[in-house]
Amino acid sequence: MHTIIRLRRATFFISLSLLGAMPQAHGQAATSPLATPSLLLRPAAVFDGETMHPGWAVLVEGDKIKAAGPAAQISTPAGARTIELPGQTLLPGLIEGHSHLLLHPYNETSWNDQVLLESQALRVARATAHARATLLAGYTTARDLGTEGADYADVGLKQAIDQGLIPGPRLLVATRALVATGSYGPKLSVDVDVPQGAQETDGVDGIVRAVREQIGRGADIIKVYADYRWGKGEPSRPTFSQEELTLIVQTAKGAGRPVVAHASTPEGMRRAALAGVETIEHGDAGTPEVFRLMKQRGVALCPTVAAGDAISQYQGWKKGQTPEPERLQQKRLSVQAARKSGVAIVVGGDVGVFTHGDNSREAELLVQEYGFAPLEVVQAQTSGNARLFHLLDRGRIQPGLLADLVSVAGDPTQQITALRQVKLVVKGGVVYTSDK
Ligand SMILES: [Zn+2]
Repeated sequence: MHTIIRLRRATFFISLSLLGAMPQAHGQAATSPLATPSLLLRPAAVFDGETMHPGWAVLVEGDKIKAAGPAAQISTPAGARTIELPGQTLLPGLIEGHSHLLLHPYNETSWNDQVLLESQALRVARATAHARATLLAGYTTARDLGTEGADYADVGLKQAIDQGLIPGPRLLVATRALVATGSYGPKLSVDVDVPQGAQETDGVDGIVRAVREQIGRGADIIKVYADYRWGKGEPSRPTFSQEELTLIVQTAKGAGRPVVAHASTPEGMRRAALAGVETIEHGDAGTPEVFRLMKQRGVALCPTVAAGDAISQYQGWKKGQTPEPERLQQKRLSVQAARKSGVAIVVGGDVGVFTHGDNSREAELLVQEYGFAPLEVVQAQTSGNARLFHLLDRGRIQPGLLADLVSVAGDPTQQITALRQVKLVVKGGVVYTSDK
């Protein structure tokens, strides 16, 4: 019998006894193959990460996909549980490309106040709720790009999820992230040293030590801020030198960790691309030249269009009523240039800036306001993100891959808003229902 976990979004009433059963379900599958429970999922169609297959079914055994194909050709093992999913599309579990589980929306509490005034215990408690909301939205994996002042709390959060203590997505964590001294925030009076939203470091010795420190404490990814606003009200300008960025990448690469860069200026993006980062986050002022360089060097862009959209609204833009801010007009041009250049696109919204669980806002905006085809976005958010993050065990529906699956009403490759109609979430063969 499969473990079924029913979680209600609106309440905190989670059955702890059921949650406690999660690891046992895995253990049984691993140690006693005969007792492995099977699960047959029968949707209207299966999207395998690339294309749609009407009439397919998927068989799950333990934490893996055992078979996927035309329903009539899949034999149901004795004792298997069947879940009928009429009118639904079964997809690989969605992959969030850019989240901050330790942040909550800035219109609730400013970033400065979250970093300075909220205790780590409060932030972690919130993060557990954020992790659950993310999973229930169909996101079974998230690349979490920095704790923003909450030290290494993401490492513990990841462990709690992996140990089955709390529901949440599989995480790739970046821990503290790296910033050049003086370039980040919060900034108060010049006389006061305040905790920073990331780890300050500079120069050869400092950088090598900081990268190794973060990896030693559990970073799966090194994140670096290649540019930022040096002062309040200023435009972003480059922070680390070319030599520093290159050293960060070399040090991380040697330890098998990719580097990702926050960068929005052409020069910050150029340095990051030349240094060998794998993805550039935001890229707001990217030019055709810099996207060409990224394409040449195999660097992907995560445009995070939902974050800019949310921040503009927090700053007073009344969407659909007042003229679009210049910042968003500029963003539209840079995303167009990026698409033209052929750089690979990571789908990730910078969720945390806006509400966790509302992750599909990024996919929707890419389709509704940035001219992407729904199919293109759904591919990118499943097999595309998996490939770019080196996650070869997921992102597709194929025998042998992890049984991370989401079923939604309708067909998101035609109507992107269907991504929000989540009816069933399976992670590692464990069934979660949202009871919405
Ligand atoms: Zn971010």
